[in-house]
Amino acid sequence: MKMHKELKKIEGIVLKSLDYKENAQIAYFYGHIGRFSLHVRGSKKIGAKSSAFCETLTLAEVSCTDSEFSSFSGGEILDSYNVIKNDFVKIQVAMCMLDKVYHLSDSITDHEIGYKFLKDCLNYLKTTNCPKLLLIFFEIKLTYLLGINPEFKKCIYCGSSSELSFSITEGGCLCHTHQYETLIDLDKYELSLLKALYYTKIAELTDELLKEISDELITKYNQLIDKYYQKYIEYLPNSKKIYYTLCK
Ligand SMILES: [Zn+2]
Repeated sequence: MKMHKELKKIEGIVLKSLDYKENAQIAYFYGHIGRFSLHVRGSKKIGAKSSAFCETLTLAEVSCTDSEFSSFSGGEILDSYNVIKNDFVKIQVAMCMLDKVYHLSDSITDHEIGYKFLKDCLNYLKTTNCPKLLLIFFEIKLTYLLGINPEFKKCIYCGSSSELSFSITEGGCLCHTHQYETLIDLDKYELSLLKALYYTKIAELTDELLKEISDELITKYNQLIDKYYQKYIEYLPNSKKIYYTLCK
């Protein structure tokens, strides 16, 4: 009797790949089931068709064995994101997004939503003229999917919604009574723009909204978001350090 290996088909985006033994790679994907890895045999051989399935930032449907150490056994490339790969800033932005998902995927509370969100953001990145702002949009909205979202609507101490300002150390907004000079990171205007980004759905996002944010404010938001992530998950990925060096 022949042994049949169970095969399953699954769609995902390649987050990164690592070399594995001779000529093979382990490709890490993110899809609606969360992060998963595939053993791709022969992908490092010259001219190997399977190498495309190991290339970071590739959308593919893959067939693989249904086991704990899953092996790649064919598939279809759905998008190579060449528009992004051919743009110096956009590729760095995409790398920051993928790196965050790679490291934090276990903390994402809903992978169906998380996967759709990542895919939608990458699609937006293809055509936008504001890639740096899209990264801020992505990172601030991702806090929601990670269950560490800041409180934007009311004072975290008393629930008041008047005269709010924002504090990273406190994890959200503070009203006039509860704010102390040293804690305040954003003034009312800066807070209103960040809040608008946080509450805008990707389907409703436009460059018009993003363009309102000045270069100075981009720097400020980036610092704030990095501090925020470090406070909650002690994490600043390498990709973001590279992004700051290359995309000043
Ligand atoms: Zn208060």
